[in-house]
Amino acid sequence: MCLTCSIVNAELLPTGGIIYKDDYIVLHHCIDINIPGYLIISPLRHVESFSDLNQTEILQMGTIMKLAVTALEQVDGVEKVYIANFGEETTHFHMHIFPRYKWMLNQSAQDIYIGNRVDGAKLLSFYRQKCKTTPELMKENDIVAVTAYIQNLISSHISG
Ligand SMILES: [Zn+2]
Repeated sequence: MCLTCSIVNAELLPTGGIIYKDDYIVLHHCIDINIPGYLIISPLRHVESFSDLNQTEILQMGTIMKLAVTALEQVDGVEKVYIANFGEETTHFHMHIFPRYKWMLNQSAQDIYIGNRVDGAKLLSFYRQKCKTTPELMKENDIVAVTAYIQNLISSHISG
């Protein structure tokens, strides 16, 4: 079973728990990257491409992504939120919702720049490697603070 299917089937619980789940999609924290607020959103169905999603999945994913991004933009230190899909590691279709924090530009990570412009894809890749850890070593308190905030914002907008 794939990683995302394991989370959908509650065989694997990401730090911060399941932030949002309905009959179509699931939103949770990235399981092994220590960047508070780095989220993953996926359809429950194991499909591999955006083109496989049905209208309801697209609608739910878009709605919840907007609320998650809105919440992340209010988190201290977050300057920008990236959204991306790659599917190279886990084939189950998923979008990365990646907060770019101020501190990410303060470090001497020359690799993330092209000239004096930030290269978003490189930054995401660089910090995914740099902050990779094991599920047991995730910064639980920081992550739970952010996931609880997002959960509140979503539940205040979605009824039932
Ligand atoms: Zn899957």
